[in-house]
Amino acid sequence: MTGPVRQQAMRENNLGVVLRSIAEHGAVSRAAIAAATGLTKATVSSLVDELDRAGLVADGGAVGNVVGRPGQAVRLNPDGPVGVGLEINIDYLVCCVVDLAGHQRHLEVRLADNRTRPHGEVLDEAAELLAQGMRAAGRQPVAGLVAAVPGLVTAQRGALVAAPNLDWPELEVAEELTRRIGRSSPVVSVQNEANLAALGEFWFGGKPELADFIHVSGEIGIGAGVVVAGELFRGRHGFAGELGHVMVSVDGERCRCGALGCLEQVAGQEAILRAAGLPTTTGTSLGTPEGRWPSSSNWPGRGSPRPSRRSSRPGPRWAWPWRAWSTCWTRPLSCWAACSPSWRPGWRGRSAPNWTGGCSARAGPICAWRCPGWGGRPLCAAPRAR
Ligand SMILES: [Zn+2]
Repeated sequence: MTGPVRQQAMRENNLGVVLRSIAEHGAVSRAAIAAATGLTKATVSSLVDELDRAGLVADGGAVGNVVGRPGQAVRLNPDGPVGVGLEINIDYLVCCVVDLAGHQRHLEVRLADNRTRPHGEVLDEAAELLAQGMRAAGRQPVAGLVAAVPGLVTAQRGALVAAPNLDWPELEVAEELTRRIGRSSPVVSVQNEANLAALGEFWFGGKPELADFIHVSGEIGIGAGVVVAGELFRGRHGFAGELGHVMVSVDGERCRCGALGCLEQVAGQEAILRAAGLPTTTGTSLGTPEGRWPSSSNWPGRGSPRPSRRSSRPGPRWAWPWRAWSTCWTRPLSCWAACSPSWRPGWRGRSAPNWTGGCSARAGPICAWRCPGWGGRPLCAAPRAR
């Protein structure tokens, strides 16, 4: 690396360090940033000026000690760039816009059974939601667009390799969405929804000291995000969190992926409904994004839920899925397919009940933050002060 290039890279790195420090501390003085980062006050002032010119920070009011002249604080600019997040899930679409300060500026949720619709129709509506989100941003520039999808997303290309719960083929979802919203818009990036949910918990869960954990999210499908040393662990091929299709019962229910006894067929929402003796064809009316769970006594023509025959069986042997799942971290798609031996792309999903719960789109905008100020890397890649 040549001298000027190295200097530029170092400045970009320091811009990221200062911006992260401001994000972590809220309204903070330049002197406090210098103390927290180890940079000189002069360097911090120069970097803050550059962030200000980029519209990323704003005046944070006066701060100071009892003794001495008050200083001027700086904070993230809530009127600066925004991120747009989209989630395509099995029974809903959701889009939100979040500003740099973390305020939600726009939220649109649409309930629909996306298994019963052609993928092109779902992508059309998803792109419409994205366009609506960008319009809601108004004069604030859109820094990035991130789409969360319930399927296998490759680490290298960000392509959707398989989404058995949606029965979608291998698809360049990012390209499809970008083409639909127009080439002049920021490029859409695609991530697995469980991975984004894990990052959301890490960044906003209130426990920043927990840098190593596995976040398991369960709706109709079950997925997991693995965070190691504060970074998302995707495994060799990007499928490290694929927990839902690990077989836990050799004579279990047939899964949408084609295999028998996947974890989703034991612990997924539909499986729980079946075990409770509740109808499994009630669609999205079962729940709302607010998570309301209707009383079983309100079901037309039904009394109290009765346990099904299967509910009396022993629970899954948890060591088994863990062992099988962990081997998938380092193995390619063929391993995932091996976990689901009869997986076949042409399988058609059944009409089934849907709930809606947590929203990976909340984490999406955070991954969307890209700014020339730190080399176009996402905020999550901005270095932490050591
Ligand atoms: Zn499966």
